[in-house]
Amino acid sequence: MLKEKRFLLVAATGLFVIFTLFSAQLFSTIAFTRRFTELVNDDNPNYYLMQQAFAQEGNTPPTLPFTPFSQQQEQEAVPGEEQQGQQLTLANQTGLANDTLQLRGIPEPGECEKVPGGIICDPEGKPRCRGDEIFDKTTGQCEKVVYTVHILAIRTADKDGKRPADINADQVRQWVDKANQIFAPAYIQFKLDPIPDPWDPLPNTVINNFDASGAALEEANRVASQFPDKLVVFFRHGYVIVLEPDTGQDTGTSTTEDETTTTTTTPTTTQVRHDDWHTGNGYSDKGLKFVAMPGFEHTGTIIGLTHLGTSGIPDWNGVQNIWLLSHEIGHYLNLQHTFPGNNCEDIETRAKASGYIASHGGLPSALDGDGLSDTPPDPCKDLYINQLWDPCVGHDSVTITGVTSDGMSFSYDFAPDRHNRMSYFDCDPMGFTPMQIDKMREALRSKAQEGLSIR
Ligand SMILES: [Zn+2]
Repeated sequence: MLKEKRFLLVAATGLFVIFTLFSAQLFSTIAFTRRFTELVNDDNPNYYLMQQAFAQEGNTPPTLPFTPFSQQQEQEAVPGEEQQGQQLTLANQTGLANDTLQLRGIPEPGECEKVPGGIICDPEGKPRCRGDEIFDKTTGQCEKVVYTVHILAIRTADKDGKRPADINADQVRQWVDKANQIFAPAYIQFKLDPIPDPWDPLPNTVINNFDASGAALEEANRVASQFPDKLVVFFRHGYVIVLEPDTGQDTGTSTTEDETTTTTTTPTTTQVRHDDWHTGNGYSDKGLKFVAMPGFEHTGTIIGLTHLGTSGIPDWNGVQNIWLLSHEIGHYLNLQHTFPGNNCEDIETRAKASGYIASHGGLPSALDGDGLSDTPPDPCKDLYINQLWDPCVGHDSVTITGVTSDGMSFSYDFAPDRHNRMSYFDCDPMGFTPMQIDKMREALRSKAQEGLSIR
């Protein structure tokens, strides 16, 4: 008897809800005057009725984040006195004030999302958060879950203990601290495993000379695999290859990996390897289990142009590259450079950039290194330096003109994001775009499935 009576009540409620929902005036009034307050629960009979009502609008079945409540389940549920009372009141009303709707727990249109063929209401009375988000009651917003990555710092030396990497625990902490600042808006944080004192280097010549060759990649991955739950960061000595003229004079430095500043070459240079010189480069990539870093004081970057003297000789403001680790971790988390390629070499002058665009489709997207729509094409820091432009101040855009191979002239203004961590610019504050953040968080979830701890 109780069930039968309840069924009638529910049916009456249903008709009323269907009627009121399609009463345009009420619908729009509710939609535009009410804020989201409470969502119908999937164990609330009104949820099903709302669905039924909206379902008449289209043919495509809605995609629901959960299994809709069925009539069978509804009848089996034992309603409490309070719930019955609410339904009774509702069914007897001839007009519904907004507050009444709220009290009854009936979803207002703004609380539910209309999709083709139906309606999706949140089952728990709060905004639907994405899989990697949690609902924050204090802010009323969905917030990203913080992923905490544990860094194991390994300092290397050659097999015989010679040529140890030039780094100490405090310097590692400085790099990690900077990375934590830069990654905070991505809700990604790094926790450094305690570094022993004294910090004896791992004797491994291959990793100590890590240069992204196949053998070095394999060996570094092999060692890093022994710590599957950590992000292993190797600090190595490395070496430097210098292009030297046949006359024996140095023209500058050049190296084989990431973060390379290329220098001029002449037809009569030879590559000379200096094992006693420390590398200044970092390296990582999405498929790797580690990041390779240099000694702390052996890496530098230009962050400004102090002045151009009367001689026209630039006075660059070069500093230790505190930003390097965050850039390499970006690679580790599946990010590419914002400019095309592995270094700026191909586009380091206006002429080179023009030729590069001409031979890569003739469109501005030729300088789009990562294909992400929220990172602009990047003509690269080296182009700024080679024009004697301050990399961080002024010159918001660069115009590059040219002619494509089929004779089409072009003139494009490029405005690189000089605060993007995956550019070569090191202009604080550095950061990532939302698409880069999504990509990195996805990479972390993927790595977590392979054993990386992210909590
Ligand atoms: Zn890079």
